[in-house]
Amino acid sequence: MTTQELVAEGLQLPVMEAFYTIQGEGKFTGHPAYFIRLGGCDVGCVWCDVKESWEAGKWPVLSIEKIVEEACSFPGRLVVITGGEPLMYNLNPLTKLLKEKGFTTNIETSGAHPYSGDFDWVCFSPKKFKKPHPSIYIEADELKVVVFHQSDFAFAEKHAELVRKDCELRLQPEWSKAEKFTPEIINYVKNHPTWNISLQTHKFMDIP
Ligand code: SF4
Repeated sequence: MTTQELVAEGLQLPVMEAFYTIQGEGKFTGHPAYFIRLGGCDVGCVWCDVKESWEAGKWPVLSIEKIVEEACSFPGRLVVITGGEPLMYNLNPLTKLLKEKGFTTNIETSGAHPYSGDFDWVCFSPKKFKKPHPSIYIEADELKVVVFHQSDFAFAEKHAELVRKDCELRLQPEWSKAEKFTPEIINYVKNHPTWNISLQTHKFMDIP
């Protein structure tokens, strides 16, 4: 098979970076986790802080065996697959292998592509710049909306109507707008208690 065919099958994937750190956001905040950041994203968020991830062709294509072998070299058994937009790829083979090795599997996705993979926790963070694929709504365990603009509160509510009833709802201030929106989010959550707050605590801790 060619590299292109192996990537299409999800047997090889472009990896921008992979590192062991502390999950800074959402449900698993504070947990040690191995992050696998896949290269490639076609969503185009204006405030994206990993724009270098967008071009998949810039990053080395690794076999899933190699990716999992690296993950296994650290003591933690929580893995977070992120990007870029990881659902651009078929994640079934990678997550199957990770689970065989005893990992709890999490994903952070905009949901802009069809869902794949076997995940214990799906963090769905929809973006206005590309409509989510309908397959994500039933899968999402956590809806995390980044607040960059006043209209993001209404955007968040629109998506909250589409996810499962037990999906956890979080609002997170976009880092560069945190001063403006954190007080507004605090006020919003106090008045709309189905929501809670996610902060990018890794940025406060100055870790990746
Ligand atoms: S979906 Fe994520 S990686 Fe893609 S542009 Fe938006 S913030 Fe950046």
